Amino acid sequence: MAISVNELATHKILQDRVVLVTGGSRGIGAEIAKELAAQGATVAINYVSNADRAQEVVREIESYNAKVTAVQGDVANPEAMKKVYEEVMETYGKIDILINNAGITRDAKFVNMTEEQWNQVITTNMNSIFHLTKLVLPNMIEQNYGRIVNISSIIGQAGGFGQTNYSAAKAGMIGFTKSLALEVARYNITVNCVCPGYTFTDMVAAVPEKVQEKIIAKIPLGRFGTPKEVAKAVRFLVVDGDYITGQSINVNGGMYM
Ligand code: NAP
Repeated sequence: MAISVNELATHKILQDRVVLVTGGSRGIGAEIAKELAAQGATVAINYVSNADRAQEVVREIESYNAKVTAVQGDVANPEAMKKVYEEVMETYGKIDILINNAGITRDAKFVNMTEEQWNQVITTNMNSIFHLTKLVLPNMIEQNYGRIVNISSIIGQAGGFGQTNYSAAKAGMIGFTKSLALEVARYNITVNCVCPGYTFTDMVAAVPEKVQEKIIAKIPLGRFGTPKEVAKAVRFLVVDGDYITGQSINVNGGMYM
């Protein structure tokens, strides 16, 4: 099939770009990695434990003739993130685009929530973006270009029953995004959030079916989102969003406005 003029133009935009996607072995992160690789980007996908799934994503991306590598490392561990950063820099020499996507849930009603559940979610979902962004930013400043997209959540905007930890972390990401956007705009670096609604990945598949039905009943578009639909919003920010910074794009089927 012939490539349209638009596709060619888009391809060129990411052709020389290196992307690091945290949590790229499954779900939304894997789709973001594929979406950006399909536009010509070189991609490093980070994962924590699922080497097989990471290799599946690598093989698929290789089939687009894009450069790709999988890098193991726990985003909750600053030392591990330093190693991930160094590995990507050694392999590709730069990171132009950082997608802070890795995240977990440890749900419990607040009265029952343990300090461990609180800390795991805050450390993995929010402290991680402090550590990794701090590593990646100096090179972006030096090259006067950078795109950072943080994957927050509808739960950070609207709250979620049994999710005080997750909601606090995801709301924190939105505040982080707005403040950092102000600080780095002068270096041609944009910082934005994408806030998915309920998106069908392992994270949502783990929710009991009865609860899934109740959630769907509250979504105006009447279904869960797909990881691809979230990835397309990320692609828009990275490819066409040069004048967009400090924003949150909601991809939630109309569930929160
Ligand atoms: P998922 O299917 O559970 O996949 C999670 C990904 O994160 C995997 O690649 C996993 O790696 C990685 N990961 C988990 N903990 C990690 C750690 N400590 N260090 C490095 N990587 C780690 O999740 P998802 O549904 O795609 O969610 C992706 C992001 O979107 C998360 O931040 C989530 O909060 C957010 N989000 C999701 C939804 C939704 O409905 N799905 C809605 C709103 C926001 P392994 O494969 O190695 O475990």
